[in-house]
Amino acid sequence: MLRWLAPFLLATLLPAQALAWGSLGHRIVAVAAAHDLPPGPAAWFNGAEADLTAHAMDPDHWKGRDHLEGPRHYLDCELYGGPASVPRDPAVARARLGPEAFLLAGQVPWVVLERVDRLAQAFRAGDAGAVRVEAARLSHYVGDLSVPLHTTTNHNGELSGQHGIHHRWESGLVEDLVRKGGWRPPVRAIRRLDDVPGAPWAWLADSHALVPGVLAADLEAAGRPEPAPTWRSHAYWQVFLDLQGRQVERQLDVAAVRTAQLILEAWHRAGEPPAPASR
Ligand SMILES: [Zn+2]
Ligand SMILES: [Zn+2]
Repeated sequence: MLRWLAPFLLATLLPAQALAWGSLGHRIVAVAAAHDLPPGPAAWFNGAEADLTAHAMDPDHWKGRDHLEGPRHYLDCELYGGPASVPRDPAVARARLGPEAFLLAGQVPWVVLERVDRLAQAFRAGDAGAVRVEAARLSHYVGDLSVPLHTTTNHNGELSGQHGIHHRWESGLVEDLVRKGGWRPPVRAIRRLDDVPGAPWAWLADSHALVPGVLAADLEAAGRPEPAPTWRSHAYWQVFLDLQGRQVERQLDVAAVRTAQLILEAWHRAGEPPAPASR
């Protein structure tokens, strides 16, 4: 009975968490990552912008048909006692929280590592189409891991009376930045990561440390005490952009760099294959 009931319960609980960088943010990260690559792996992505943007949102679209997909996009650090206390071994984490709480607490750092393996397989197979699709999907999870509110139980301000902050930060501000200045991440020269298995955990801690600043900026922009529950004025957006716009730019920028570093890692694991000749 319990085994039958659990998936149903999960399905009813998860949709509230089923948010992500707006599609604009994810597409920016996927394309910028390809621009950061050194020539060897970059050759696999010549003219790939359409493929990357077409598949950067695939993991969000899977949520509708797979009730376990939602938690692959976040990790609620507080449930483990903070980012430094999350066991890196998923079996240990599962034993710590129990199987159902483990599923609900989120899995994004583990999913990022698993996606690097899939991308390496695509490079090994010499399948340029699969490389592009897998790289775009990897960029999605790295992007989500780089969003502060994807690392906290206060995912959408529900614990602090700031309902809707999730969308305001990761979609509203991104759209403002792009609309106002056509902002794109700068192209970076990247190098291989020293510690690939540890990298998503460092990124998790980095994102989680930004949560208090995101929440404080939202309150400051809204003017204390907190006004209407969801609606925000033009003045709110001006102040919120002023306070958090640079942070949003930084997170998009680091998400692109991190994705590029992991693409480089996957290409290296596959034996640094040359790109197939285009026909
Ligand atoms: Zn989100
Ligand atoms: Zn997502």
